[in-house]
Amino acid sequence: MIIPDPIYDYDVAKLVRALKTAILDITGELSRLDLAGLSLANSKFALAEVSKILSGLNAESAAWVEKYVPKAATDGVIRAIVDLGVVSTVEEAEKIAKFSRINREMVAAAVADTQADVLAVTQNIERKVRIAVRQATADSLRGNMAKGVNGSRTISRDILSGMKKTLGDSVNTGIIDAAGRRWDPKVYTDTLARTKLSQVHREASTNEAIGRGAYYAVVSRHGATDACRSWEGRIVKLIPDAPGEFPYVGDIPKRELFHPSCRHVLSPIRDPKLLEQ
Ligand SMILES: [Zn+2]
Repeated sequence: MIIPDPIYDYDVAKLVRALKTAILDITGELSRLDLAGLSLANSKFALAEVSKILSGLNAESAAWVEKYVPKAATDGVIRAIVDLGVVSTVEEAEKIAKFSRINREMVAAAVADTQADVLAVTQNIERKVRIAVRQATADSLRGNMAKGVNGSRTISRDILSGMKKTLGDSVNTGIIDAAGRRWDPKVYTDTLARTKLSQVHREASTNEAIGRGAYYAVVSRHGATDACRSWEGRIVKLIPDAPGEFPYVGDIPKRELFHPSCRHVLSPIRDPKLLEQ
């Protein structure tokens, strides 16, 4: 029985949609600000609204992570159980699939990591919006002070459109990854979620397989066109000292396989010789 590869598009889209909605709500909140006469009280109120929107998003994201990270791990366990021939159908596997101690710990750590990564996106938006609103308030107050002095000057159109742009950009501000690349927050969250779910799936399959004394796996194939393509269908070792001339999965460079957003998963096997023939 061949298990179809997991496709997490629908699950990931839910998380990205929540972020998108929050970004739209914040943009709406900022666009209602009277930039020509922005008072400290008004800007404080707007920032409190922004915080409320982001807390809502954080709660939604946390619930998403708590649901879908364990789900990906369960999928990984089911794949291992079926591939190793413990049962012959996914339905049967679903009935007996449970997390071993090591999988329970792996899932708990993955949930915590993913929560922290998703939270970093929100915190980044909050910080950038706060700076932009403070700047706009200062610009507005200064503009109006000048008006008080000479009685005629108001904030110029240029300054107003500059304030508007700074505020707008602050909501969509990129997050900078470990490699120094700047990401659109929606793209970043999408990549983060996909990468995490696949990784959790593979780790769960691996742990389940090793727990059942199977030390090899075949890399899934879906006709990849990127660097992973040369790994599709290849046998890998799940532990470094398993016998045989197969590469250990942990030694494969990330640029070759399991890069960000990589969908490849592992199908555990007990005896690589059977497959080679
Ligand atoms: Zn891949």
